[in-house]
Amino acid sequence: MAKKTITDLDVQGKTVLMRVDFNVPLDDDGHITDDRRIRMPLPSIDYVRNHGGKLILMSHLGRPKGGGDPGDVKYSMRPVAARLSELLNRPVQFAEDVVGDDAKTKAAALKPGHVLLIENLRFENGEKKGDEAFASQLANMADIYCNNAFGTCHRTDASMYAVPKIMKEQGKDAVVGFLVNKEIEYLSDAVNSPARPFVAILGGAKVADKIGVLENLINICDKILIGGAMAYTFALAQGKTIGDSLIEKDPEKRAADVAFAKSIIERAGDKLHLPVDTHCGDAFSGDCNKQIVQGDIPDGWEGFDIGPQTIKDFRHALKDAKTIVWNGPMGVFEMPPFDHGTFEVAKAIAAVTQDNGAISIIGGGDSAAAIEVAGLAEQVSHVSTGGGASLAMLEGKKFEAVEVLDDK
Ligand code: AMP
Repeated sequence: MAKKTITDLDVQGKTVLMRVDFNVPLDDDGHITDDRRIRMPLPSIDYVRNHGGKLILMSHLGRPKGGGDPGDVKYSMRPVAARLSELLNRPVQFAEDVVGDDAKTKAAALKPGHVLLIENLRFENGEKKGDEAFASQLANMADIYCNNAFGTCHRTDASMYAVPKIMKEQGKDAVVGFLVNKEIEYLSDAVNSPARPFVAILGGAKVADKIGVLENLINICDKILIGGAMAYTFALAQGKTIGDSLIEKDPEKRAADVAFAKSIIERAGDKLHLPVDTHCGDAFSGDCNKQIVQGDIPDGWEGFDIGPQTIKDFRHALKDAKTIVWNGPMGVFEMPPFDHGTFEVAKAIAAVTQDNGAISIIGGGDSAAAIEVAGLAEQVSHVSTGGGASLAMLEGKKFEAVEVLDDK
């Protein structure tokens, strides 16, 4: 069921409490090294401001130890308020606390069009615990709740679930912002009613993280392409050797991963496309000796990327796709030349999107970073802002934090 969005409401003169994901990377001096997460929700922020709403923004930032420590400057939202102010080209007020006197006083004094950012939600222990007493203090500050933080939608932290629940009990509206709306539209359409052929590409390091996704996608996809270090578990399951390639270290967990890979190979049949060659190195360095290996990887060599024939196969498998979901790099894309497979797959996805009208969805995290670095973010349909959340959606999970919001 589609959710009500911020545009379905009259926000004039109302206080809107918007959960955003301003969990930006900071260097040791507290400078923001990438402000993408502050820029992403700007359309929703502008919408509320331009329609006479009073806006309170709230987010978590990092993992402050033990929460509840407002003195922990390393995790303060203050630099975020300063950057947001630059981006909006207008003042952004900052509250030194989350639900203390400063936040309450400043929230109550807001005027239409004003923006207030409160301190890091995780400075309050109640946030992670989903505590209702903490949540009602947030709920009491505003007239409307807006969830615009897709990256945390799979969690039930207080600001994600208890706050909208309480505000609804108070007879207030709880809606989604543009970011979350777009994420849900793309990801739930892909899972529930994909245009076919539907091709999923999975990569990255760990099979264990992708078990749920594979279980779900195997039933709904037409093709599943697997690259990255994940593929070595599948190679073991096929009885191949993988040399010194990255694999789960714990023997019991590794055995479970291999057994799982075997069952996927059996159940997926022709749907499954595994690498047929591997770009290997003899040390974890871009300058190492290299070779392309077909089949068994010898001792002393590690797989760092998919090989040229696999790139061709994957390109071919993507050629007629109408829906594409990609999550996880094809190799160690942080270390050229082993970024090649990841970038070639990114290019192939962009080309099918442009030439074939495919809907392409890039899962968060590393694949999103790769598509950005390749300069192809504008040539795919949707780059998800949430790694864990987009994986959870691909697993077919329902999010309580979204379910609780008003239906259209
Ligand atoms: P994940 O967090 O599971 O999506 O994994 C992402 C990480 O997997 C990236 O940092 C990649 O460098 C790494 N990765 C992908 N392929 C390989 C590989 N063949 N060998 C080692 N690491 C890899």
